[in-house]
Amino acid sequence: MAKYIFITGGVVSSLGKGVAAASCGALLQSRGYSVHARKFDPYLNIDPGTMSPFQHGEVYVTNDGFETDLDLGYYERFLGVRLSRNDSVSGGRIYWDVLNAERHGDYLGATVQMIPHVSNKIKEYIAAPTDTDFVVCEIGGTVGDIEGKIFLESIRQFANDVGRKNVMFVHLTLAPYLDKSGELKTKPTQMSVRELLENGIQADMLIVRTPRMLTSDERAKIGMFCNLPAKNVISGIDVDNIYKIPLAYDAQHVFDIIADHFDLPNAAGNMDKFQRIEHYLSADLPHVKIGVVGKYFDVPDAYKSLNEALFHAGIQNNVHVDIEKINAEHFSSASAAGCDGILVPGGFGTRGVNGKIAAATYARETGTPYMGICLGMQVAVIDFARNVLGIENADSTEFSKNCTPVINIMPDHDAADMGGTLRLGAYPCVITPDTLAHKIYGETQISERHRHRYEMDMSFADQFERAGMIISGRSPDGRLPEIVELKNHPFFIAGQFHPEFQSGPYHGHPMFNAFIAAAVRHTGK
Ligand code: GLN
Repeated sequence: MAKYIFITGGVVSSLGKGVAAASCGALLQSRGYSVHARKFDPYLNIDPGTMSPFQHGEVYVTNDGFETDLDLGYYERFLGVRLSRNDSVSGGRIYWDVLNAERHGDYLGATVQMIPHVSNKIKEYIAAPTDTDFVVCEIGGTVGDIEGKIFLESIRQFANDVGRKNVMFVHLTLAPYLDKSGELKTKPTQMSVRELLENGIQADMLIVRTPRMLTSDERAKIGMFCNLPAKNVISGIDVDNIYKIPLAYDAQHVFDIIADHFDLPNAAGNMDKFQRIEHYLSADLPHVKIGVVGKYFDVPDAYKSLNEALFHAGIQNNVHVDIEKINAEHFSSASAAGCDGILVPGGFGTRGVNGKIAAATYARETGTPYMGICLGMQVAVIDFARNVLGIENADSTEFSKNCTPVINIMPDHDAADMGGTLRLGAYPCVITPDTLAHKIYGETQISERHRHRYEMDMSFADQFERAGMIISGRSPDGRLPEIVELKNHPFFIAGQFHPEFQSGPYHGHPMFNAFIAAAVRHTGK
């Protein structure tokens, strides 16, 4: 049976539980243990797909086509694992399951109650088999939230069911620094741990978010009030890059604390891959400037995976990538001047789309490296249709009803029979040999994740290809376009999918790596 580490948070939200969970997992991996990660979100939405990106940042998509919380992105990137719909479970989904079972008569006349029916359902999801040594489970929200109570109750029961030695409770809190008194205040942490204890959960390790390292006196004080050894009180200090966190934890012997708890042999970890990132961050390297032409810049996390993927590709190319946020609604050649590459990310709706088309035109005409993601491919197709093929009213039916639809909801679209809902998750793509796409991926069979409704209409394919826009990736049956590229251009490629979801800090992603390499070449000009 796997061993479980539960991550909870108290005092305030947004303490970075996801990164903390991922970092604990990374420490275990560095000692050779296999790790799976799960997130439980107590809110009542059935899944995060319906939640506004303006509230929740990016919607992350798993291989199996589930729209999840962006914390799953941290897990996949840090741990290199592939997660699924059963690894992102909300309160709403739990109640939905329970109520459906009730309607189905599964409870055989019993009174359906929070305990045991809801708590058992939560425990079922927690215990879903993995073939890993550890499962790191993050409980979303903040201790004290009403909807979170049943989740705390369930992990308490779970620890009792499987044995306290097989479960570790890690709690994140905040120690605010008061300027006036010049002190770090530990009281909120004490109160948060007490609240957890009221739910029958004794924290085994505390990660206290603070602006500076805790002193040994402060750790002793927190340990004394919170009923755990001072050595199990860790400083979660602010760092300028999340990949420094595993190193910060390692320096504070977090693995040893975990090992003590589970009776694992103490071992030094191989932290090379994090050290490599740390060196990269402090190295004096050339910079490339990438113009990202988007519209959700007011939401800090809206382009999370995209920013990550550009960062990863910078590591692979030994350059620092500076992102120039270009508001699509105000795109002009002047706003893009000085950029070594133009990237148009995914997006929905008419607002800003003309600027995105203009960005594709600009990159095509000026020979600036271009990478298009999803909508970024569709606008490249629209630009090409209008300005090279001369189809003046070429457009997507998403933006115009009276157009020549080069982008449309296609009958072959798997999701078309579901009323044009999103095509979601990983789909295979076959790459045409001897194309840029082939050079980038180095293979002809790839799989990438999708989240879109519209597709390029392949009845235009010949026309496009004759004029120099090659369809270099297609669905295996050849009917859906996956990648387009320009023949006579230093670097112009776009995919109908979201490669950013498969990029990781240790290897990057082939398409992003090649794009940044092209941007580097462009600076050399
Ligand atoms: N709005 C476009 C579509 O639905 C693109 C979506 C996206 O970029 N993710 O096809």
